[in-house]
Amino acid sequence: MTALRLVLGDQLSLDLSALADLDATGDAVLMMEVVEECRYVAHHKQKIVLVLAAMRHFAADLRRRGARVDYVRLDDPGNTGSFTGEVQRAVARHQPERIVMTEPGEWRVQAMVESWRDWFGRPVEIRDDGRFFASRGRFAGWARGRRTWRMEHFYREMRREHALLMDGNQPAGGRWNYDAANRRRLPKQAVVPARRRFTPDAITNDVIALVSTRFPNHFGALDHFDWPVTRAQAFEALEDFLANALPRFGDYQDAMKVGAPYLYHSLLAPALNLGLISPREVCLAAETAWRAGRAPLNAVEGFVRQILGWREYVRGVYWALMPHYADANALAASRPLPGYYWTGETDMRCLREAIRSTHEHAYSHHIQRLMVTGNFALLAGVAPQEIERWYLAVYADAVEWVEMPNTLGMAVFADGGRMASKPYAASGAYIDRMSDFCADCAYDVTRKTGPRACPFNYLYWAFLIRNEAHLQANPRMVMPYRALAKWSSERKHSCLDEAATFLDQFLA
Ligand SMILES: Cc1cc2nc3c(=O)[nH]c(=O)nc-3n(C[C@H](O)[C@H](O)[C@H](O)COP(=O)(O)OP(=O)(O)OC[C@H]3O[C@@H](n4cnc5c(N)ncnc54)[C@H](O)[C@@H]3O)c2cc1C
Ligand code: SF4
Repeated sequence: MTALRLVLGDQLSLDLSALADLDATGDAVLMMEVVEECRYVAHHKQKIVLVLAAMRHFAADLRRRGARVDYVRLDDPGNTGSFTGEVQRAVARHQPERIVMTEPGEWRVQAMVESWRDWFGRPVEIRDDGRFFASRGRFAGWARGRRTWRMEHFYREMRREHALLMDGNQPAGGRWNYDAANRRRLPKQAVVPARRRFTPDAITNDVIALVSTRFPNHFGALDHFDWPVTRAQAFEALEDFLANALPRFGDYQDAMKVGAPYLYHSLLAPALNLGLISPREVCLAAETAWRAGRAPLNAVEGFVRQILGWREYVRGVYWALMPHYADANALAASRPLPGYYWTGETDMRCLREAIRSTHEHAYSHHIQRLMVTGNFALLAGVAPQEIERWYLAVYADAVEWVEMPNTLGMAVFADGGRMASKPYAASGAYIDRMSDFCADCAYDVTRKTGPRACPFNYLYWAFLIRNEAHLQANPRMVMPYRALAKWSSERKHSCLDEAATFLDQFLA
């Protein structure tokens, strides 16, 4: 046998570089379900089902196309439980001349596979992952020599380079960014579209049974798993999004509503991150919808920016700054993660809603992540690594290269401004403006102090007071610090006391 070709769980793409020159008769494709990857954080049960079910479907597809797939199941006798152990066993089985793979998505796995060069006594060829708009090298080239990195600058280069939403050399419609038009509150009478979801087939049901037995104590419900697990399903989900949600994606991108976790979001991140569908396919489909008059430009530009801009940018940041990035804690935050992040048992309705949807669907949309669970962790001073591990565990789409910069850089400002120009800190007024959560909450969003006051209100000011030395000079924080300058020192102390009392009581 000539080559052992590895396909990892987030590399489920037929055009994967590791498979580019596959010799269907001579080579073996190795796919491994290993317990170490299921347990390095206590992933949501739906996330484990998603990855294993998608892997099994992908292996079946490869076999139908004539490939020799050596597939190790989680419960196979002899499964060593680790990638290294399984590659070692496969090398003994197949005696390949070389090992070929595509660069892994996570730094942890990259470090592991680099050590294989010494272990297995044969060449290990690690190829670039061509499934992104920008290679790691392309981002590094862009970042080199820049004092500050900003997504918007990178995004504009990507638009030009990939000719997406361009009219010649100019941005389509004359503007690069329609964000200002994308912050509308959802009208009360709005009817949110039902979304295309997927009933598990026999393969997925087998995995559901396996995960229920092997990981019963992991977070999350498993009784209504409905994520796409094949490329065909991912395209159905894309078509559904284009027809039913994209036209309003822009307007209500930041809106939140009780009992409506999906609103007009695409729900495509899990399929994108596993490689079932490519970012290029998704962006081109959205652009085509706009050019055909089926969706407005503010929606399509907003959507393309998330993928061509943010998704590529955070991947670049991750690879440029790891491994030190993982330890970032610019604001020296050290409180433990509140237990109700796992149970949802809190009187704060916004948090309860976000956590409920996370538990039931392994999903909450971006603004719930950033401005509810993330904002609260920021204001409360939760240790960045604790909240980061939580995000990595609880979403179907959670993979470290995208989750970590979003958490450390955007949500809790632990990188001191590498990713975002200011902390996304907000009081209850923001949540009230963008949602219907406050109407029926045990707390009163209009009250600033006292037992019924919305905790986000005094936590927000206490956060500013605590971090004055770090944030006061930030040009984008001038307004709140100007307001704070008018406070007496008694008022500041009383605010800090109220915040500490609340946190000490509930962060046990
Ligand atoms: C604290 C925090 C943690 C996050 N963790 C993850 C994660 O582990 N995995 C993940 O894929 N996304 C993560 N995101 C980004 C974003 O919230 C999700 O991609 C999005 O909510 C997924 O839902 P959707 O597919 O319906 O997205 P949509 O709102 O429909 O957006 C379309 C696509 O754009 C991409 N995208 C949108 N926002 C971002 C972003 N900020 N960074 C990178 N890509 C983006 C995603 O691929 C997404 O599918 C995180 C955001 C925050 C604030
Ligand atoms: S009042 Fe405060 S705690 Fe309650 S839902 Fe609104 S923002 Fe959240």
